Amino acid sequence: MKPIVVVGSGMAAYTVIRELRKLNREIPITLVSRDSGDSYSKPMLSNAFAQKKDINSLVQTPAAGMAKQLDIKLLANTEVRSIDRERKQLVTVSGEIEYEKLVLALGADPIRIPLQGDAAEAVLSVNDLADYAVFREQLKNAKSVALMGGGLIGCEFANDLATAGYAVAVIDPSAYPLASLMPEQAGRQLLAPLEKIGVTWHFGTSIQSMNKASSGFTLTLANGTILQADLVLSAVGLRSRIQLARDAGLTVNRGIVVDSALRTNDDSIFALGDCAEIEGKVLPYILPIMHAARALAKVLNGEVAKVIFPAMPVVVKAPAHPVALSPVARDAVGTWQLLASGDGVKIGFFGNSKNLLGFALTGEFAGERSEMAQKLAGT
Ligand SMILES: Cc1cc2nc3c(=O)[nH]c(=O)nc-3n(C[C@H](O)[C@H](O)[C@H](O)COP(=O)(O)OP(=O)(O)OC[C@H]3O[C@@H](n4cnc5c(N)ncnc54)[C@H](O)[C@@H]3O)c2cc1C
Repeated sequence: MKPIVVVGSGMAAYTVIRELRKLNREIPITLVSRDSGDSYSKPMLSNAFAQKKDINSLVQTPAAGMAKQLDIKLLANTEVRSIDRERKQLVTVSGEIEYEKLVLALGADPIRIPLQGDAAEAVLSVNDLADYAVFREQLKNAKSVALMGGGLIGCEFANDLATAGYAVAVIDPSAYPLASLMPEQAGRQLLAPLEKIGVTWHFGTSIQSMNKASSGFTLTLANGTILQADLVLSAVGLRSRIQLARDAGLTVNRGIVVDSALRTNDDSIFALGDCAEIEGKVLPYILPIMHAARALAKVLNGEVAKVIFPAMPVVVKAPAHPVALSPVARDAVGTWQLLASGDGVKIGFFGNSKNLLGFALTGEFAGERSEMAQKLAGT
């Protein structure tokens, strides 16, 4: 019997396998990953430094333990180069693998913004354990960090590094933190609390050039400001890994296009996690992965199932000023309304028929996320 083959060993891959094993202990499963295959929680990467965690303490279960626990064949450090759909085979760096059904859980790549200057290549990004190891090593000799991007991951790193004693400069072309997720009145709540722990903000601009200095780097911003930093970390967003699917003739858009059963335009191939675009939406967070994995496990087990996403609030790990939010769909029509204020704000986004479509909770209101999510679900 040919196996179900899962490509990737991130949260999406391991969650779908775990869910499938709850339904079926017999079905053969092979996991192929180009990384070590160790299981870890990626969200920890942006708040691990202040807790003095190295990669060994971030690994929850090593690859061998995962293989045993889930009763799977695990091929680590094995990159998949192409998919031969006609033969139902994967072509990997170390040979071919046949599949009965194929699950793509390939994740996403950090977006790199091209910079001028002789040190442009030294910009770091942290998207997996190996990146974190490099980042942690370089921080040993640094006192200051410039962060490209004041979105969710940028704010989390800013909070973490400032707590650990680094001078942090955040540079972002938007007007305020978390601008793509919240209205200005909510985003601005983070300014003073993070400044207090050592963050300086540079909004409405971006890094233009990065050059080596006698120690660290000299950064020139588009607005003419010159900054010095020992290390530059980019957190400007991620782009779904779609190339493998595109080369195989699968339908791709912003992500690998799948329906509510997580199925691509090839009946035997499925996708979930950061690489997937599920019914038009790329949802690069943990909760959507959990829901998609449960539905996909049923489908792989031969059942009829589809994913239905409930309200899924996102927590920003910025303890200096906690934030919880439910992003508003891009095409939603309505207005933001302030519901309460104090040490933070509670703001809702209401549609034309006064239905709650999203929210932003900061500071003392961040704890109300379950209550607000229920209101969201009830509308
Ligand atoms: C710093 C950081 C903090 C975050 N914090 C939060 C948070 O607080 N809350 C939240 O909900 N979300 C958070 N997220 C997002 C969340 O972590 C991701 O949505 C999730 O981990 C993605 O899992 P994945 O399995 O889809 O992708 P990944 O974990 O990226 O896994 C992709 C896998 O595919 C493998 N792969 C790729 N290409 C190939 C190939 N050609 N051949 C073989 N293997 C291949 C990779 O090696 C890897 O194992 C955070 C993300 C980051 C980067």
